[in-house]
Amino acid sequence: MYSISYGTKEIFFEIKRTNRKTLAIEVHPNAEVFVIAPNNISLEDIKYKVEKRAKWIVKQWDYFNQFLPRTPERTYVSGETHYYLGKSYLLKVSKGNQNQVKLKSGKLQVTCKSEPSSELVKKLLAQWYYNHAKKKFDIILSEIYAKFKDYTIKIPQIEIRRMPNRWGSCNTLNKIILNPEIIKAHSKCIEYVLTHEMCHLVIPNHSKEFYTLLEDIMPNWKKWKSELECKLS
Ligand SMILES: [Zn+2]
Repeated sequence: MYSISYGTKEIFFEIKRTNRKTLAIEVHPNAEVFVIAPNNISLEDIKYKVEKRAKWIVKQWDYFNQFLPRTPERTYVSGETHYYLGKSYLLKVSKGNQNQVKLKSGKLQVTCKSEPSSELVKKLLAQWYYNHAKKKFDIILSEIYAKFKDYTIKIPQIEIRRMPNRWGSCNTLNKIILNPEIIKAHSKCIEYVLTHEMCHLVIPNHSKEFYTLLEDIMPNWKKWKSELECKLS
């Protein structure tokens, strides 16, 4: 299995070598991508061709997606797609020496000490997302904080809490609350949510001044806001 990056997506594909002279790309209704390639073409050239057709591949996915139920119920079994930092990864569940989650060779690999069950895999994944969220949010926060050097605000504390309808919120106690679910979105989306909340530490409401500040700190915030909204809601 090979892959290329396309925007926030990762396109995985299999290569089938043949005697034919031209290269063909197939997208199957289950979203699998196959490249039928001549024997003498290099992997580098194949990747280049896939990159050139990436837009078309994503269009095929969207076409097939419309026939799928809106938000598929997660069952936490191998083959399922899960998101991390804006990219989709296939889940691989197996039995092993210890309970563990690893992001390896393009897969989210979960090993369970006991017979894998949906509940156990769900729990291990939630823990893994939480730990990664904690680290990532702190890194992004210190990057954004540097952009607020002209304002007299202290670096806020981050609290991670599940909230049903929002990505983040802040309070007057210099604390920003973030939904751990945004770790599934592109890091720029996380940056947008954090920047929005940081701006509230300067201007508590959504006045014209607030948006002027937001625009100043993160000029392309609208792009990442809409990305976040259509990806995960
Ligand atoms: Zn706000």
